[in-house]
Amino acid sequence: MYNPVSTKAEEFIDHQEILDTLSFSDSKKNDRAYILEILEKAKLRKGLSHREASVLLACEEDDLNQEIYSLAEQIKKDFYGNRIVMFAPLYLSNYCVNGCVYCPYHATNKHIPRKKLTQEEIRKEVIALQDMGHKRLAIEAGEDPVNNPIEYILECIQTIYSVHHKNGDIRRVNVNIAATTVENYRKLRDAGIGTYILFQETYHKESYEALHPTGPKHDYAYHTEAMDRAMEGGIDDVGLGVLFGLERYRYEFAGLLMHAEHLEAVHGVGPHTISVPRIKRADDINPDDFSNGIDDNTFAKIVACIRIAVPYTGMIVSTRESKACRERVLHLGISQISGGSKTSVGGYYEPEPEDENSSQFDVSDNRTLDEVVRWLMELGYIPSFCTACYREGRTGDRFMSLCKSGQIQNCCLPNALMTLKEYLEDYASPETAVLGNKMITQELPNITNPVVKEKAVNQLTAIHQGKRDFRF
Ligand code: SAM
Repeated sequence: MYNPVSTKAEEFIDHQEILDTLSFSDSKKNDRAYILEILEKAKLRKGLSHREASVLLACEEDDLNQEIYSLAEQIKKDFYGNRIVMFAPLYLSNYCVNGCVYCPYHATNKHIPRKKLTQEEIRKEVIALQDMGHKRLAIEAGEDPVNNPIEYILECIQTIYSVHHKNGDIRRVNVNIAATTVENYRKLRDAGIGTYILFQETYHKESYEALHPTGPKHDYAYHTEAMDRAMEGGIDDVGLGVLFGLERYRYEFAGLLMHAEHLEAVHGVGPHTISVPRIKRADDINPDDFSNGIDDNTFAKIVACIRIAVPYTGMIVSTRESKACRERVLHLGISQISGGSKTSVGGYYEPEPEDENSSQFDVSDNRTLDEVVRWLMELGYIPSFCTACYREGRTGDRFMSLCKSGQIQNCCLPNALMTLKEYLEDYASPETAVLGNKMITQELPNITNPVVKEKAVNQLTAIHQGKRDFRF
């Protein structure tokens, strides 16, 4: 029985409710009056229910679909301006005891090189990432209680935060590791992590079990209830996602929004971010073996509908997507992207030899961080290396209420400009620096609060003179 406040996975992600949502949205996909009504509600920027958003996703009326895209674009502008936050993944270990059929790290893959970074190697990787200009990482690891126990993950986080090379530092470490216990989530919280990210992969229980035939990840309920345990352990910011291609996308979309509704209903705060990964080719994985792959048009529609359904939730697109695809979805609602990424264990400090490929998937966007930063600015976006909210304690409901009050705008734009300035001073190519400084001059007048503006101008000057780490 569907119950968003239940603590049981099968009740807050109720299979029958998803099926009913799909038939409901099928019956409404050409109902112009109803779709217009939903769009009117969406314009209030308070989000939509999974049923309403599913109708927009199913909508087959061309002109109304254009309205959906325009509204997504407008909401993105209102909440996130033209800022895009930058991050990079750091793979710590690809030892894994699970049997995920879409992932090359599955335990039965006997030929992929297994690697686990030592603390010394992590130091080198972090220096390489700092030298690129990164300030925010997402750490990734397979699930292996012997090789990658929580103590190892905690030690890695401590090492990452301890490295300060030249003007570099990693100011926010987000964590993408397997579902774990409340006690372990508490340890991660105490280690000062940013967002805890865990992709559901698929919300369809039967498919989930078939796609995870062996290992602890096989347990659908334990995996699906992980965010509740994370929040119980004191982690305020959690990141959801499904791996598009595993199941029918409309099923996943409804499940994803039901999960967000559940977190809001139970914990008073929805997900901090939603990621939209698609299955990619990797070692022994062929994406064509999965029959639910989605094309770029569907991908764009999903991004737009998520933006409208949960306006306060950041949305992440990784280098799984090509430059062209990323360009297409940026304005529809993406707020964070990775750049210069490596999906191998190690590889930032020293490229892996060709016969030692430990990558989790093939990267489609192989540009350097500097190229991505320049490209963003050429498109009119401000690349932001900001980590201020989490460091100022603006997490969970405090972040959401600031966001909802509109006050966040007085922090985000100056913080984006100041962290961009740091990047330009310390890491940018001369071409990128010229473009970036021009952008900062153009954007400064858009800071509406005169006191904040004056302070930002002074701090930008101080950054030019060598000072670092200012934030509102
Ligand atoms: N082992 C942890 C877990 O089970 O959640 C960490 C996640 S893994 C390092 C990061 C994510 O990569 C997975 O959750 C999955 O969605 C995604 N992934 C796995 N194989 C992939 C593939 N072939 N293409 C694209 N993404 C993939």
